[in-house]
Amino acid sequence: LPSSVSNFAFGMVIKESTCFDNSAMDGFAVRSQDTFGASESQPALLDVTGKIGMGDMPGDIELSMGQAARIWTGGCLPRGSDAVVMLEYTAPVDNNTIEVFRAAAPLENVIERGEDCRRGSPVLYSGTVLRPQELGLLAGLGITRVQVRRRPLVAVISTGDELVPEDASPAPGQIRDMNSTTLAGLVEKSGGRPVRLGIVDDSPDAMFAACSRALEMNADIVLVSGGSSVGRRDFTLRVFERMEGTEVLAHGVSIRPGKPTILARCGNTALFGLPGHAASAVVTYLLFVHYLITLLLGRDPELSLKTICVRCSQPFPSSAGREEFVRVRLDDGQHGCCPSAKPVYGKSGLISTLIKADGLLVIPRDVEGLHQGEEAEVLLFP
Ligand code: AMP
Ligand code: MG
Repeated sequence: LPSSVSNFAFGMVIKESTCFDNSAMDGFAVRSQDTFGASESQPALLDVTGKIGMGDMPGDIELSMGQAARIWTGGCLPRGSDAVVMLEYTAPVDNNTIEVFRAAAPLENVIERGEDCRRGSPVLYSGTVLRPQELGLLAGLGITRVQVRRRPLVAVISTGDELVPEDASPAPGQIRDMNSTTLAGLVEKSGGRPVRLGIVDDSPDAMFAACSRALEMNADIVLVSGGSSVGRRDFTLRVFERMEGTEVLAHGVSIRPGKPTILARCGNTALFGLPGHAASAVVTYLLFVHYLITLLLGRDPELSLKTICVRCSQPFPSSAGREEFVRVRLDDGQHGCCPSAKPVYGKSGLISTLIKADGLLVIPRDVEGLHQGEEAEVLLFP
């Protein structure tokens, strides 16, 4: 599958994608030394001994001094030749002779055997995402089966009495469920397989049933957005605790946004209670869930989100005690400087802030804000 993750234990090429030197141009295969010093005013004269058809091995053609052979892009270089002169730099003199107006350096316009992948050298490493180009490379090597990691199955549940599906018309007091769509999309991006289990009411029994269903499906990860705080109508924690064998690892993390986040495990399944606010749900997803999926896929989790160094376009206030993730928009850095980051202010329920922003600027926990011009780290949205 495209964007599966390879699980190569070895990753060594045992064969080459192209096992012959071939031409990168239409023209004439030559011995480069025969063209040395050739110019418009003093062309080299070469005898044409034959032509090399596409897909042919030029078995009996071997160039001796002063000889050339007609060749096309991808054609196999005949023995004796070490360069190709582009057709444009030649002119016919008669049926068997050409003039060459330009010297060809050794290996000019030649793709060497094994140049793409050399025998014995690694091509893909364990943990590589198989994008179309990796799959093309494997096809070129004739490798049609590779071992890949299973994509983690991620159950996505939204909870809230006020939520209605996105194709429904909300009555006063109701809102459409955004998080199911956002989180399922993010799961896909991370390399997981989302399963949307829909909306459940703020009812412990309904939520318990939905989470149990996720476990029955052998979900690797369960995401519940909404109800993760300590309010009277917040049941996620209680439901997680009610599931047999659950260990709650954290309820409340010192980050902003995203404080009311629950991390728990039930056997081999990771349970996440994410805040309902659209932007908080995304931030906590990126920090915890994306990281875990990256880990499960065998990729380097440190590389799970791209980070870049930026300069603060203005002061970023922050209170010590919580790590802050400020939504920021990046401008091109001037004079080769790193980009400058501008805050996108807005409440954590506003998903539009995530559309205006490029990533999250990190203010460490024990730092009381950043000064204008100070360098900082930004986690880029995937
Ligand atoms: P909660 O975390 O349940 O206290 O919800 C916090 C806020 O997020 C409330 O305003 C909810 O209406 C809103 N919210 C919760 N779940 C969703 C969702 N799936 N889509 C959009 N907004 C939500
Ligand atoms: Mg709620």
